[in-house]
Amino acid sequence: TEELLRKSEKLAVVGEMAAGVAHEIRNPLTTLKGFTQLLKGEVDSNRLSLLDLMMSELNRIEMITNEFMVIAKPQAIEYKANNLKDIVNQVLSFMEPQALLQNVNMNKQFIGTEPYVQCDENQLKQVFINIIKNAFEAMPNGGNLTVEIKESTNQNIAISIKDTGVGIPKEIIPKLCEPFYTLKEKGTGLGLMVSYRIIEAHKGTIEFASDVSKGTIVTVQLPLQAAEVPVSCL
Ligand code: ADP
Ligand code: MG
Repeated sequence: TEELLRKSEKLAVVGEMAAGVAHEIRNPLTTLKGFTQLLKGEVDSNRLSLLDLMMSELNRIEMITNEFMVIAKPQAIEYKANNLKDIVNQVLSFMEPQALLQNVNMNKQFIGTEPYVQCDENQLKQVFINIIKNAFEAMPNGGNLTVEIKESTNQNIAISIKDTGVGIPKEIIPKLCEPFYTLKEKGTGLGLMVSYRIIEAHKGTIEFASDVSKGTIVTVQLPLQAAEVPVSCL
C-alpha cells in the first residue's frame, strides 16, 4: 500500500504540473502551426519537406498536450448522477466507425438495473475511449471487443472491456498507468495515466487481467449511487 500511495502522489503532482504546462503551450503552438502552414505557400519546393516535418512534429506536441488537457480544466468538471449505460452506449457508437475499419466486432452485455454513478460525463467518456482505443490497437488484424457492465457488490458497478488482442506480459502491468509508458512506436504513454487520474478522482479503481497472445480484460469499478428518487417522493 505504501508503494501504491507513493505512486498516486507522484501521479498527482506530475499530472497537475503537466496539465498546467500543457495549457500554457497551447496558444504558442497554435501560432507556430499557423505560420508553418502559411510558409508552405512561400518556400522553394525543395524546402517543402522540411516544413512538412515541422508540421508533423508540431502535431505530435499537440497530441501530447491534448491528452493532458483532459485533466487541466477543473472549472469545466461537473459531477452529476449519470446512467453509466448511456455513457458507455455513446462511447460505443462513437467508436463504431473505427471498429468497422479495423474489423473489430463489438458486443455488449449489460446486466442488472440502471447503474447511476456520480461523475463527470465527459471525463468518464474519455476514460472509456482511451481503454477501447488501446483494445483496438492491440487487435491490428481485427477481433472481438466485449463490454460488460454489472454490479460487482452492492456499492460498486464494474465495467469490463475485453479484447482478443496481443495481451500484456504480467511484469509490465504495474507500469501501465505511469506517465509516458508506451510500447507503441507512435504512442504517447499518457492514455492510461490520464484514465487512472480520472478514475481515482471518481473514487474508483482500474485493474488489468491479461494473457499474452489471448487478450486483455480491463475492469473499471465505480461507486454506485442509489437509483434516482423521483422528485414527487421528496
Ligand atoms: P499508448 O496507447 O499511447 O501507448 P497508454 O497509456 O494508453 O499509452 O497505454 C500504455 C501501454 O499499455 C500501451 O503502449 C500498451 O503496451 C499497453 N496496453 C494498454 N492496453 C492494452 C491492451 N488492451 N492490450 C495490450 N496492451 C495494452
Ligand atoms: Mg493509449
